[in-house]
Amino acid sequence: EDKIQMKVPIVEIDGDEMTRVIWRDIKEILLTPYIDLKTVYFDLGLEKRDETEDRITVEAARAAKEYGVAVKCATITPNAQRVKEYNLKQMWKSPNGTIRAILDGTVFRTPIIVNNIKPFIKTWEKPITIARHAYGDVYKGVEMKIEGKGQAEIVFTGQDGHVSREVIHDFAGPGIIMAMHNLDKSIESFARACFNFALDQKQDLWFATKDTISKKYDHNFKDIFQDIYTREYQDKFSAAGIEYFYTLIDDAVARVIRSSGGFIWACKNYDGDVMSDMVATAFGSLAMMTSVLVSPDGCFEYEAAHGTVTRHYYQYLKGEKTSTNPVATLFAWTGALRKRGELDGISSLVQFAADLEQAAVDTIEAGIMTKDLALLAEGEKKIVNTREFLQEVNARLGRR
Ligand code: NAD
Repeated sequence: EDKIQMKVPIVEIDGDEMTRVIWRDIKEILLTPYIDLKTVYFDLGLEKRDETEDRITVEAARAAKEYGVAVKCATITPNAQRVKEYNLKQMWKSPNGTIRAILDGTVFRTPIIVNNIKPFIKTWEKPITIARHAYGDVYKGVEMKIEGKGQAEIVFTGQDGHVSREVIHDFAGPGIIMAMHNLDKSIESFARACFNFALDQKQDLWFATKDTISKKYDHNFKDIFQDIYTREYQDKFSAAGIEYFYTLIDDAVARVIRSSGGFIWACKNYDGDVMSDMVATAFGSLAMMTSVLVSPDGCFEYEAAHGTVTRHYYQYLKGEKTSTNPVATLFAWTGALRKRGELDGISSLVQFAADLEQAAVDTIEAGIMTKDLALLAEGEKKIVNTREFLQEVNARLGRR
């Protein structure tokens, strides 16, 4: 056979609902005809997670760590309604949360750009990737409502009994307080994941905090990044011709808006929460946003940034054909294939990933697209269902 041969398998993590259907279609129409696809398969569909008491999620994460490259389908994070719908033994935790905790990873989100969907910010020509620190700060904050007059203090009692305290405020009347924390170890992992990913992508890395106001808390983030950069990455960055750029968060926002894109923006937890939605919206659509979880020891897990598209799944179950956008899920696959190709020295696999991505972009730029994009795109448009879209991509891939 003249199919592309793989050496090391990709860890394949299947998921739920409409994205599970798309997953199978992508493999059938665009991957297995061309590649002798080797994967180690984990079914993270909700039934299987329930059946295994969620051990399957832990096993998948461990396999990702072992093999180094994984691709994940969107999965349901159960809530009370899902517990009923699937008759679950328990409200299992978010699989993404479990995997991220095991890999100690950072999530990088990047928009997929096509020339007939113009970003709301006219100057943005290249994608902006957001890296969000996923531990601590306000998300692990402890809050208190102050009912009246009194003094609020912050107290740390060391294991050796040493006590440090600081007055927060002498309250003359009602108010509020909050304490939050972070860990050097977590910030260090975040920094390394960001520096590694910048080298991987050959793109500049930006980082910003409010260290002028937060002279200990935010300053600690700034110092840890700078320290790790100087000791471990400066030479590699120079060799790759990229730079690490630190500035204040307000200055960063101003520069991002005026930039042409093409860099990675590392954000503290809250900043990343807010800015990733801003960037996704400004670039157009969640269905055109890829996501990769990178661990500090260099393991990569690729996925789409969107969920399982439940509404379309219920239509699909009624036998209707849906026009669900498969592009972000397709790019999760191409990301994993390219990475595997790079690691194993299989240039035909790297080339295939690039051709497949370009074929998907060409299809949309030719005006053939799913319904969600038709609302955003300029020019002539033909709306197709998911399988028709994948077949159109295949036609263009064939020409390549
Ligand atoms: P969703 O991303 O599935 O959908 C949000 C909205 O965007 C919907 O209106 C949907 O129709 C639209 N949309 C998203 N992706 C699309 C696509 N590819 N094509 C066309 N339209 C698209 O998020 P949700 O509705 O909040 O959640 C549905 C399920 O997905 C939930 O059970 C949730 O737990 C899960 N979820 C999983 C992940 C993940 O695994 N990474 C992320 C988010 C949500």
